[in-house]
Amino acid sequence: MNKEGILVIISGPSGSGKGTVVSELVKTDSFLLSISATTRSPRAYEKNGEHYYFYTKEEFEYMREHGQLLEWAEFCDNYYGTPRIYVEKQLKQGKNIILEIEVQGALQVKKLYPESILVFLIPPNLEELGRRLINRGTEDKETINKRIHRALEEMEYIPQYDYIVINETVEKAKKDIETIVAAETMKCSRNKKIKEIFKGENV
Ligand code: 5GP
Repeated sequence: MNKEGILVIISGPSGSGKGTVVSELVKTDSFLLSISATTRSPRAYEKNGEHYYFYTKEEFEYMREHGQLLEWAEFCDNYYGTPRIYVEKQLKQGKNIILEIEVQGALQVKKLYPESILVFLIPPNLEELGRRLINRGTEDKETINKRIHRALEEMEYIPQYDYIVINETVEKAKKDIETIVAAETMKCSRNKKIKEIFKGENV
């Protein structure tokens, strides 16, 4: 049976730990990660083509205007977007793809791909969120405040998501997401061609 891959969209406030959870999921080889385009400046450890594709505002706008992005959004004064071709190609080949994107982009993708799974990852509490943002030390105070404010706004979108996962530990959050995807894979609506398996068999 030649099935399309599943598109898993993971959102959550800055400091929810989604980057770590996603990188653990990708290590299992069950998922490919879509690398986003952004106009944000790279953090010290970030490499072009590995963490993001870094573009100028003009380059990003060109891509956006020429239909090269599946979705895009502005987040804390920068643009972020998902390159279209990679996702379309891998899904057709039956590969599961993870998009780690914010809420506006997630809802755009859900419209395009209603069968995609929207997962919202939250930290166990708000203090933990602030603590994680400060501890990672990649943003200045003003940006941290903006991101905390944005985190509260993003929580309002939770009812539009399919699943919520509380990131108490990376291991547990990873397992929860794997469980969600395993159950989704077994949905009858995703297995409409199941009868073809029996074709030609003498039963
Ligand atoms: P950061 O600057 O911390 O890497 O990312 C900021 C926010 O942008 C995060 O919520 C992240 O998930 C989101 N983001 C990253 N890539 C994309 C993308 O391609 N599209 C959208 N809509 N959001 C993205």
